[in-house]
Amino acid sequence: MLAAFGEVPRHLFVPSGLEHKAYTDAALPIGGGQTISAPSTVAVMLSALQLTSKDRVLEVGTGSGFQTALLTKLVSEVYTIERNLSLVKEVGNKLIEAGCGTAKLRAGDGMLGWSEHAPYDAIIVSAGTDEVPSHLAEQLKAGGRMIIPLKGRINLITRGRSDLRFRELSQCRFVPLLPGHTKH
Ligand code: SAH
Repeated sequence: MLAAFGEVPRHLFVPSGLEHKAYTDAALPIGGGQTISAPSTVAVMLSALQLTSKDRVLEVGTGSGFQTALLTKLVSEVYTIERNLSLVKEVGNKLIEAGCGTAKLRAGDGMLGWSEHAPYDAIIVSAGTDEVPSHLAEQLKAGGRMIIPLKGRINLITRGRSDLRFRELSQCRFVPLLPGHTKH
């Protein structure tokens, strides 16, 4: 995972004018009231998922695309959904510029998941909510892992045969997971 951080230029994913802050460990505004997560937060979330190179991963909340880019270095298939259409327009080119164009990007409500490619080995939700969206739970493989901020805490969920097991990790602030989509 550290090698992936070394390979992905974070300055490509922050808004112009903030490049000088790209290599600080801080969340930064990316427009539309959204933020690019701090690198340490991304590291906590990605390492908890214990990804392997064969994994198929769904990301909900593409945002800047930085975490998406890291995922392309770590796993074989990355599907990512963003509800803010203006962010989606920007992020496709950034991923290509960073050499991470293999990620499949879609505009829409990630709470519904992306059923065509389900089930997923891992799901990573980058926005906070109170409950696990049922579609996401359904699209997780048995034995699969999900990272999701619930009530202000990052949770690692593991799917058993018929149940979900929850483990609380660190506390963190996230923008809210919202239904539907928006132009800005
Ligand atoms: N990992 C991203 C985090 C961006 S902030 C980064 O570091 O850049 C979280 C993102 O989740 C925002 O861009 C927001 O628009 C998006 N989001 C919130 N609810 C969503 C939903 N239901 N479906 C898809 N994206 C959503």
